Amino acid sequence: MNRKRRNDPEGFKGKRGVRCPYCGSAVVLRSAEGIYHDNAKGIKLYVCTKYPACDAYVRVLEGTNTPAGSLANGDLRALRIEAHRCFDQIHRLGLMSRRDAYTWLAGVVAAPMAHAHIGQLGEYGCMQVIEESRKFIENNRARIRINSDYGAPKQRIPGGGRYAAEHRAAAAGGG
Ligand SMILES: [Zn+2]
Repeated sequence: MNRKRRNDPEGFKGKRGVRCPYCGSAVVLRSAEGIYHDNAKGIKLYVCTKYPACDAYVRVLEGTNTPAGSLANGDLRALRIEAHRCFDQIHRLGLMSRRDAYTWLAGVVAAPMAHAHIGQLGEYGCMQVIEESRKFIENNRARIRINSDYGAPKQRIPGGGRYAAEHRAAAAGGG
């Protein structure tokens, strides 16, 4: 039945015809060397063969060849990072359990639970998550403990640099 699929550790490779969503080129699995400034962890990425002209890639889930989401360019990666940061506040602040937060997320992006991963979201989905997460936190501010690490939501969508480097792992991990 699902034997073939379960035993397929190749992720995208096992799916025929997976192409870069931006330029339509083939996608290769390779080391993040030369893409990440620091790849001490030996992370692997699925990268558009037109990289760096086409800046689209997605990392694999740790210890697998399974893509953590869909290929994303720099803008979308930054949006996913911000969406994850905003969403994570909800369960980190104890406003919901992590599990409940993911159920809530599925509702926000109108996707079944199995597909409610920020790594799968496009720009519109990310914007929804950012907006709804902020709203939820704002509406529940009274419940936030004084000792929490919550700060004011960042208004600016980060475009890269230090912020992206710090949060890259979290965002690329999908959800
Ligand atoms: Zn491409």
